[in-house]
Amino acid sequence: MTAGIYLHIPFCKSRCSYCDFATDVYKSSDAVERYVNALCEEISNSQEQSQTAETLVDTIYFGGGTPSLLTQKQVEKILNSIYKKFNIQSDIELTMEMNPATVSIETLRDYRSLGVNRASFGVQTFDDTELKRLARGHDANDARQTFRLLREAGFENVSFDLIAGLPRQTIADWERNLDEAMKLRPEHLSLYLLEIHEGTPLAEQIRNERQPLPDEDLAAEMYELMLEKIAANGYRQYEISNFSLPGFESRHNSKYWLLDPVYAFGVSAHSFDGKRRFSNERDTAKYVKLIEENGGAVVMREDVDVASEFIFLGLRLNKGIDLVEYRNRFETDIEETYRDNLSRLEDSELIELTLGNLKLTQKGMLFSNEVFAVFV
Ligand code: SF4
Repeated sequence: MTAGIYLHIPFCKSRCSYCDFATDVYKSSDAVERYVNALCEEISNSQEQSQTAETLVDTIYFGGGTPSLLTQKQVEKILNSIYKKFNIQSDIELTMEMNPATVSIETLRDYRSLGVNRASFGVQTFDDTELKRLARGHDANDARQTFRLLREAGFENVSFDLIAGLPRQTIADWERNLDEAMKLRPEHLSLYLLEIHEGTPLAEQIRNERQPLPDEDLAAEMYELMLEKIAANGYRQYEISNFSLPGFESRHNSKYWLLDPVYAFGVSAHSFDGKRRFSNERDTAKYVKLIEENGGAVVMREDVDVASEFIFLGLRLNKGIDLVEYRNRFETDIEETYRDNLSRLEDSELIELTLGNLKLTQKGMLFSNEVFAVFV
């Protein structure tokens, strides 16, 4: 089994109205430098994850936040700390998340020269009015330009995100977004339905009736349209929200759904070693202080109910769960343990149970949280 490494970079140019990630607005290059030093220190000190020294690592993922706010030197420094500590496979998938209007052809070439071979960036919508409403801090042309620059810099594995069900978005608006995405033809797409998180400006705007509540029926219509469009254009859905051209599934993200080990560093990072989960401090200033004073920032360790997570994470994948594999691994039958719930979910057309396989139906993908609740 191979492992992945996740690095959290908690800085953004501005705060999007729907975002509840652990990220801060970029204040000064000194603050970023101090954070990068803490991150490198955490990587080289890491004891909990030391068993990975023997495990081959085949993915590194810079997520955020906006990792593309890092300089070439900072990325190089972080990678050097990783290469010193871990056993890295030669054909590694090395992804960097980016945001439009944060990269130039020079920075992208720099990243390429450091081995970054996959880019994932946030478009969310190609509509300027919607972007403004989300306080995204860039316009649609910035997103188009980022895609062009990525190709020019030699990125042959590019992913971007779009969100459906934005406030006041119509089905025709969503269709225009999908059409533009199909025309650009990235190797990978993450297509999400908008989720409203408590404590975000968007949640507040909805409460104050300045924005409408998302319409569930419209979201279902958008999801259906998206599945039709992507299939007609040669993309394959491999997970509820993820689609790719053949051979371009995200190797790193698949690790989460397959319960492979992922060692995560940085503020609010969550590691999983196959049995236990470790979570880091969620506040950036406190994280840096903890690393500087103690060399580590893990604030929570828990044993994971692997059998239960195997089900609800596996169900996210289009191929679903291999029931024989489950039986061999956990010495128990899903059908027996969850008999009543499974027949209820089958009657509601949320799951499909065939000989040796359990998976979500299209309707189940739309109401996946309802299904997952059964197995938590
Ligand atoms: S760019 Fe991404 S991480 Fe940063 S505020 Fe916006 S949604 Fe959040």
